[in-house]
Amino acid sequence: MRVNGEAPCGSSLEPSVERPERPSAPRPQEADEVLMSHINWKQAEAALDRQALVIVPTGATEAHGAHMPLDADTHQAEHVALRLAERLDALVAPAVPYGISKTFESFAGTVSLSIPLYQEVVYEIGAALIKQGFRNLLLLNGNRPNGTANDQVARRLIDDFDTEFAPVVTAVSYWEPAAARLHALRRSPVGGMGHGCELETSFQMATRPELLDMAAIEGLETPLVGWDLVAPVVPSRTYAMRPSPGSNHTSIFGDPHVASTESGVAFIEAIVDELESLMRNVSPSYWERDS
Ligand SMILES: [Zn+2]
Repeated sequence: MRVNGEAPCGSSLEPSVERPERPSAPRPQEADEVLMSHINWKQAEAALDRQALVIVPTGATEAHGAHMPLDADTHQAEHVALRLAERLDALVAPAVPYGISKTFESFAGTVSLSIPLYQEVVYEIGAALIKQGFRNLLLLNGNRPNGTANDQVARRLIDDFDTEFAPVVTAVSYWEPAAARLHALRRSPVGGMGHGCELETSFQMATRPELLDMAAIEGLETPLVGWDLVAPVVPSRTYAMRPSPGSNHTSIFGDPHVASTESGVAFIEAIVDELESLMRNVSPSYWERDS
């Protein structure tokens, strides 16, 4: 059985005596039942019959500072998807491990799809599910630049399939519904939650501490970024020169130094709670607001 984010048996880089005392985010217990990749097609058909929500996590393979693994976004989207699926009796499709990561293209290990191809991949996944009869889809994003792309994919799926299949497609980045709660829980000032930041580092501490190397960024200056994932600031939609190791950029936006396991656990709870609320009260753009 695959348990999301769990280290291989016996591989621990930390003294085992400390492990039981550490808080950690609960891992999905029934991963085999909600992971689409772990069920057979008859079980998938049964999920179709009950019109289960299908969650498609979208991630990235990109630099997140010297302290975090390259698959951070994919892991975070999938972890949240599994937690959410337990609450909503949903299925989790295999995560898309490559995303729009051109920002960090000059950092070793970053692999980016072009924007049109990325959108085509997500569109084809959504279209395949919709044409089989799955009517409820959630594109659950873990990599910021994928977010606006996923929104366009959701619109395109509706444009192409609404009259024949009547799907309902939600596109959201996992931190968005919980933004106010995360902002209230944070330790960093505005600009501290961006990329490889307080939020993401805390998330990894709570779920995969064995993959973090905090010593790698000890004493490293990581300036606050001009935007923020969760603060109520004016969104930044202006783009210029990308960061690179050549300009001594760390591939971090924000402040990972204030991250903690406790914060990660609290962040994840808030994230899953608010996503559950969002998906229990879906309100498509064209529907009238309940009075
Ligand atoms: Zn990230």
